[in-house]
Amino acid sequence: MEIAEHNALVTRLGGDEFAILLSNIRSNQQAVVLGYRILDAVREPFELAGFNTEISASIGITISPDQAQDISTLMRFADVAMYHAKSERNGVSVYRSSYDRHTPKRLALINDLGKAIRENQLELYYQPKIRLNDRQCYGFEALIRWNHPEMGFIPPGEFIPLAEVSEVIHPLTLWVLEQSIKQARAWLDSGYNFTVAANLSAQNLLNDQLVDRVAALLRRYQVPASHLELEITESAIMADPNRALKALQEINELGITLAIDDFGTGYSSLSYLKRLPVTSLKIDCSFVKDILEDEQDSIIVNSTINLAHNLGLTVVAEGVEEEEILRHLELMGADKAQGYHIGKPMAVTDLDAWLAKGDWLPR
Ligand code: C2E
Ligand code: CA
Ligand code: CA
Repeated sequence: MEIAEHNALVTRLGGDEFAILLSNIRSNQQAVVLGYRILDAVREPFELAGFNTEISASIGITISPDQAQDISTLMRFADVAMYHAKSERNGVSVYRSSYDRHTPKRLALINDLGKAIRENQLELYYQPKIRLNDRQCYGFEALIRWNHPEMGFIPPGEFIPLAEVSEVIHPLTLWVLEQSIKQARAWLDSGYNFTVAANLSAQNLLNDQLVDRVAALLRRYQVPASHLELEITESAIMADPNRALKALQEINELGITLAIDDFGTGYSSLSYLKRLPVTSLKIDCSFVKDILEDEQDSIIVNSTINLAHNLGLTVVAEGVEEEEILRHLELMGADKAQGYHIGKPMAVTDLDAWLAKGDWLPR
């Protein structure tokens, strides 16, 4: 491979991790281009015991001396960039401090988060979900928002991962659960029979108290368990499948419904999926948004729908931004949908206007 021309040093760090040192590049972009070449080479299908096999890789890049000079920092930055490439499914990623969970700024944010919960800087937005058979809204997903007093609006994609590496994820999730259950109560009181869905992190499944706390909240607000749905990402489940199974079973026994979030991004094993007490799969936005143009994505969505139905699960398509996509999903047999086309995540104050418009409600 061309690597030879670059005077590269390739070493195995252990397990399935390798490091490549390019001591002779002319520009940073060259490292990126080379990263993609390596990825292409790795992804080349090959035969293994008579079967066609494919593997892939995620590559993280860091640049010296621009980003760091010492070896341990460079290795850490490359690792951070590699995990970013993995989670974004983009194959190659160059280190940025915003990807890093341990920079001083991010440590300060974790600190602020505790205060944010106590001082009411957090808010839940609600995004409608509809059934495709009658195109009516049956419930909402609660999505957290943080309005930081100095830094302004911080998206959940930035602070949830921080909360997840600290203990803050536990009080944060309890706060979300309490607000969502309260909101479900408020809807019941105004005559709406909506469900509310809250997101759980992997760490929440390891918390022995979670199930009791949820049960207590449902009792306190007199909300039937069937009105609460909990969403857990496929990768959170696969992080510790046995532990997740136990927690999910306890949640399911309360009568709460469970959905696997971001389905398609986490490489679950099918035999495993079959054993989980879940009722639905949410197909990740990244597959749904291009189904009209990208044949691969369309095939993935279609097979996921069939797979889910064969396992007795319903399918929720996320990230529906256009009417045409909605129709396409209907034809493919998806059960439910969520996305900007139906409604953006909204503050409770804006929700009233959305409900009053009544586009996705019975006439
Ligand atoms: P998610 O659970 O997959 O939520 C869906 C995300 O897709 C939301 O981003 C939503 O605003 C966005 N979205 C919805 N419809 C569309 C669409 O039509 N097009 C596009 N491009 N995007 C759409 P958001 O609110 O920024 O949340 C990001 C992620 O943060 C969530 O992904 C979830 O994983 C996490 N998150 C949000 N709130 C909570 C929470 O209370 N607890 C936990 N543990 N995680 C949360
Ligand atoms: Ca979700
Ligand atoms: Ca999702």
